[in-house]
Parts: sequence; C-alpha cells; structure tokens
Amino acid sequence: MSRVYNFSAGPAVLPEEVLQEAADEMLDYKGCGMSVMEMSHRSKVYDEIIKDAEKDLRELMNIPDNYKVMFLQGGASQQFAAVPMNLMKNKKAGYIITGQWAKKAYQEAKMYGEAIELASSADETFSYIPDCSNLDIPDDLDYVYICENNTIYGTKYKTLPNTKGKTLVADVSSCFLSEPVDVTKYGVIYGGVQKNIGPAGVVIVIAREDLITDDVLAGTPTMLKWKTQADADSLYNTPPCYGIYICGKVFKWLKKMGGLEEMQRRNIEKAQILYDFLDESKLFKGTVRKEDRSLMNVPFVTGNEELDAKFVKEATAAGFVNLKGHRTVGGMRASIYNAMPKEGVEKLVEFMKKFEKENA
Ligand SMILES: *Cc1c(COP(=O)(O)O)cnc(C)c1O
Repeated sequence: MSRVYNFSAGPAVLPEEVLQEAADEMLDYKGCGMSVMEMSHRSKVYDEIIKDAEKDLRELMNIPDNYKVMFLQGGASQQFAAVPMNLMKNKKAGYIITGQWAKKAYQEAKMYGEAIELASSADETFSYIPDCSNLDIPDDLDYVYICENNTIYGTKYKTLPNTKGKTLVADVSSCFLSEPVDVTKYGVIYGGVQKNIGPAGVVIVIAREDLITDDVLAGTPTMLKWKTQADADSLYNTPPCYGIYICGKVFKWLKKMGGLEEMQRRNIEKAQILYDFLDESKLFKGTVRKEDRSLMNVPFVTGNEELDAKFVKEATAAGFVNLKGHRTVGGMRASIYNAMPKEGVEKLVEFMKKFEKENA
C-alpha cells in the first residue's frame, strides 16, 4: 500500500487513522455482525452513532442549546435553495460575492425572491475580501449571506461582516472545524463535509432555533424544510448513514488531537510554511491579498502556463497529487485541510524548491 500526499480541494484527504478504523469495522461493526452500511437507521446501534456524532460536534464547536444540528443530504449546493426557502420571509436577502460558490448561492436565491449584491470582489478575480465593516444594509433584509472560505480563490474572512443586526448565514464548507468559531455570531452555519470532515453526501446545517419554522416559502419541498429535519433529529427519512458515521469518527479524531484550538495552531503552522516559501520564491507566487489568505486552500502560479503544467505533472509523479488549480482559474492550488500532515506541506515545499532550481 502506498498513500500519496493528496492536496485535493474536495473530496479531500481524511485522517488515515479514521480510514483504518472504518476498515477494521467494515464487516462487523462492534460485534453486531454487519457493516454500518447494512444496518437500519432506526436501530439502537445506529442511533448511538448519530447521537454521538452530534454530541461530539456540539462539544467541538461549543454549539449553544438554542441551535439545532442537522445531518442532511444534497451537498452544500442544495442549501443554496434551502436557505432562501426557509429564511426569506420578506423575500429579500443580501449576498456578498467573494467567489463562485457565493455567486451560485446568490443566483439560486434570485429564483425565490430579491437577492441583492451587498459587496463583491469580482473586479479583481476574487483575490480579496471586500471591506464589510459598514455595508449599506436595507432594513427589510431577511439575512446576509457569505461564503466564509473561498475554496477556489483561497481567501477567507478574518472578521465577519457587520450585518447591522441581520441574521448572518455562512457557507463554511472548506473551513469547517479548521479553527474555533463563535456560533452565536451566526444564524445559520452550513457546509458540505467532503472538504474537511468526511465523505461527500453529507451536509451539516447548524441553525438557530427561532429560524427553524413552518413559515417557509410556498412550495418548499418537505425535505428542504429545516423544521422537518430538525423535528426528526435528521431521521425524517433515511439519512446518509455511512457518511455520518465517518464524520463522527473524524469528530472523535479532532477531539483526540486537542480540539479546534489545536487544529487552528496546526493549520496556521502548516499554511505559514507554504506562504513563507511563496513570499520568498522567485518562481512561485501566491495569488491573493496577504491579509485575506485562507489557511485551507492555497492557490499559486509561476506566471507561465507551460511551467505550471510541467510542475503539476512532475509533482504528481513524485506523489504530490491534485495540485492543479480549479479549471476556471488555472495555476495550482494546494488544499491543506485538517487531515494533511505538516510533513506533507514540508515535503511539498522541498519539492517546489527543487523544481525552482531546475527551472531557473
Ligand atoms: C465544494 C463547495 C460547495 C459545493 O459543495 P457540494 O457539496 O458539491 O454541493 C459549496 N460551497 C463551498 C464553499 C465549497 O467549497
């Protein structure tokens, strides 16, 4: 067996320990003679798995009691519709456009009401986070929407926007559990888990109780109504059972590692290794404004497309895979989520130094 250093933006690297444990339990989960994939979601064994997952997530993120946690299907993109369906009482919401994922959510919301652009960084290819300290926020907005970490462009909000009292909704898909978070600052936090937590197929929605109501847009499908899911503790229908089980294992792994403070310390340390090199390199350059740099997704270029392609090819051959940038932006991108060991980043930088020498 030979494992590569996987810098994929998502689905992405998972802790090896978690995969090994899942492998050990594959045929016989804790003596019940079957795989987690084969058991009823209504069974006592599974009930413990999902309850434990929620309990551990609550502990990790310090989620207050007046927030519900839902494990749902449909990915983050499904929530692009669910958010307006559940929250647009006045049929008006504000979106801050910092990349493609925010833009997709914005476009989806327009199907259900008036979605307005509060700020955007499209003018400089989303290479920065706009100043959101004093936005023009109309009084009748139902919520302000952000994508907190921009997976494709590699930027992240270091301070949350001043929403002037409006409910903040955040897509945290690519920074979920990467650092401590003050849940009380948000009305809704949600994210697909395949970036930093588990296998694709699960989206976690954390929503304040007062935002989970029967007062949803007419025509909202039963399954997309948060109240349906919250009232049934994510078991309205068959949930993505196996995916939730793996998420639960990752939560336990995170707790064992020391929780989100420790993950933040590690993530800063890892990202620093790469950014420091990008800042001193004569060949490679980071592409985003320094103060807005993501700890999770690090895009960079050589400035020469042929050289970029050569780098990706040689890196792949050397065991550093999935470094090609998003198809819409080109260049390279190293995603260095929680499960990427520091050693992987150090070795990547070593490889980049060697490549720089050989191609000077
Ligand atoms: C990957 C990603 C999405 C889309 O996730 P799906 O689960 O594929 O729908 C949405 N938002 C962000 C920030 C992402 O990184």
